[in-house]
Amino acid sequence: MPTTVTAHPAAFVTLTAPSFGPVHSRRTGAGGGVMACRPRRDGGTCPHGRPVSCTVRHAADDTRLGQPLCPDCFDYAGAVLWNAHAPELWRRFTMAFRRYLARSAGLRVADLREALTVSFAKVAEYQRRGLVHFHAVIRLDGPGGPDATPPSWATLDLIKAAVDHAAGAVAVSTSAAGDVPAKTHVWGSQIDVRPITTTGDLTDTAVAGYIAKYATKAAECVGTLDRRIRPTDDPADLPVSGHARRLITECLRLAALEEFAGLRLAEWAHMLGFRGHFSTKSRHYSVTLGRLRADRIEHNRRQHDISTGRLPFDDDQVLVIAHWRYLGQGMTPGEALLTAALTGKPLPTLTTGTERRTCPNSS
Ligand SMILES: [Zn+2]
Ligand SMILES: [Zn+2]
Repeated sequence: MPTTVTAHPAAFVTLTAPSFGPVHSRRTGAGGGVMACRPRRDGGTCPHGRPVSCTVRHAADDTRLGQPLCPDCFDYAGAVLWNAHAPELWRRFTMAFRRYLARSAGLRVADLREALTVSFAKVAEYQRRGLVHFHAVIRLDGPGGPDATPPSWATLDLIKAAVDHAAGAVAVSTSAAGDVPAKTHVWGSQIDVRPITTTGDLTDTAVAGYIAKYATKAAECVGTLDRRIRPTDDPADLPVSGHARRLITECLRLAALEEFAGLRLAEWAHMLGFRGHFSTKSRHYSVTLGRLRADRIEHNRRQHDISTGRLPFDDDQVLVIAHWRYLGQGMTPGEALLTAALTGKPLPTLTTGTERRTCPNSS
């Protein structure tokens, strides 16, 4: 990437989900002190008899954080359907963003690329309440990408105006199904746009660190599972938080409704309905993810894959297996291959010239 790209207008944007019911939260005041969770002077209870007020100043590791004040008041169907539609909401946001830029420059959307290139890089993060939100870097490059200078009208103020407009302008609707009413899924009101500069509060290096941190966060951080729910799983037995269990159960429940079949909610129940990639970016932002992925697959294939019939090591590497456990009798083709490799027996799939080595631990 050319270093001149750092001079192009860029902003760090956060788009969140709306509220699906009050949850315990930890907020800090202007002085840095922790504020009461959700104080309500009149107090009172919800229709389920639970207090609507919480005056606790929650510690950072309080397990109640992100859990609803009343699970029965929380809109679980709305929450998982929002997660399921978040990628589409993001896609519509990027289209509305481009439309706004084109309109403000007096161009047709189709002609926008002749004037500038919009580059996006986003990561999805789970909030404790089990909803995803997006952090994105949005940058305006010249026509053709990062090598070209953007037009003078492509400013930070324009990015901010376009984000505010696009976030408020888009929605995805779902029709009524079962006991779930028709819903319109929109972004929450908490939208943050901060300029990225080479100096000052939010530098490009700080953003890179920020995004890397969120990219490593996954769904299990909110107390759900890091694997798919299996047909043999009983949701009641899963080692998850009560809130995550209800989100997972809601995914499985809605998955049975024909209207939501396309969302594959059972397959993505462990992700609480969200089936997007955690990080995506437009073609011009930097090295493509596809290129990175291809390199990684090739690396893994060379290093580890024994299912293809190739030996799992290169000429200068020795396979060491230091940990054994009993799984059962008989061998899968992969195990047969591995055993053959370890015992030095000839393999029909070996290609000429591949050197077999014996694992030092095989005895
Ligand atoms: Zn609370
Ligand atoms: Zn309630």
